[in-house]
Amino acid sequence: MRITVLAGGIGGAKFLRGVRAACPDDDVTAIVNTGDDVTLHGLRICPDLDSVMYTLGGGADDERGWGRREESWRIKAELEIYGAEPTWFGLGDLDIATHLVRTRMLDAGYPLSDVTAALCERWQPGIRLLPMTDERCETHVVVDLDGSRRAIHFQEWWIKHRAGLPAQSFVQVGVDDATPGPGVLEAITTADVVLVAPSNPVVSVGTILGVPGIRDAVVTGLAPVIGLSPIVGGAPVRGMADACLPAIGVEVSAEGVGRHYGARKDGGLLDGWLIHDTDRAGVPGVEVRAVPLLMTDDAASAAMARAALELVS
Ligand code: GDP
Ligand code: CA
Repeated sequence: MRITVLAGGIGGAKFLRGVRAACPDDDVTAIVNTGDDVTLHGLRICPDLDSVMYTLGGGADDERGWGRREESWRIKAELEIYGAEPTWFGLGDLDIATHLVRTRMLDAGYPLSDVTAALCERWQPGIRLLPMTDERCETHVVVDLDGSRRAIHFQEWWIKHRAGLPAQSFVQVGVDDATPGPGVLEAITTADVVLVAPSNPVVSVGTILGVPGIRDAVVTGLAPVIGLSPIVGGAPVRGMADACLPAIGVEVSAEGVGRHYGARKDGGLLDGWLIHDTDRAGVPGVEVRAVPLLMTDDAASAAMARAALELVS
């Protein structure tokens, strides 16, 4: 079976580990958000791709939730002593090696998709990782700051301001010229099922769907589309998705996100929607099922993947 998953960083990574465990003999492709990507200190950083790659490759710090296990921070400390801005982004020494290799390959002219494949030779994630696009298409957040309305990079909003400045809107800079990365549309159109990971609906899944052509391929494709709610009990399980949903007028609930994605038969995204077993959601035109949705370990994430596939049949 061919399984294609739309994924952001941490939520996407944990879920993908469950999919891999539940479906060891299937062909799994993840289409990963690159809207969070940023260039800092001359290094090209792809946080969501790296979260997925490290997590599936066994190199992630599962407790911190991002970055490398057994990380050290000596380079970051040196940069701070130089007063080299920005100092708010967590760049670990081991992680920097990844960014150096990536930046060097990009500078040599390789597209991000090739660079990702090269990095995965080392990490052997066991599934195919595809950037949503090879083009730069970065999420900016419109905020009121120092008396004026302006757009700042998503990472500055998310990390420096801890998503504490109310988001007026989100903008995908460069999206008009972006095209789906190599293999992305094919992974959707040839899939037996498309899964929407319990990732941030706005700045992960929404960003992927914003790349011209991707949303259409999912909505009009033959494969059933099953989503999993990242919102449990009216709040994100982890992170600050509750700072994003109100900016696009969506209630922070499993029902709110399900209705936002909408039914495929009405031009929306979903055929099925999994919510946590203590939640309730009515999403017209979508088959909703309540199952445990807490990814406490690989077994729990694998059970979620199986529940999603069961909803197809
Ligand atoms: P990011 O790019 O690192 O922010 O990660 P994603 O966009 O892939 O995932 C973030 C989302 O994962 C958040 O909205 C969380 O609510 C969700 N999430 C994290 N852990 C869990 C979990 O155990 N269960 C569910 N249902 N969602 C989770
Ligand atoms: Ca992200």
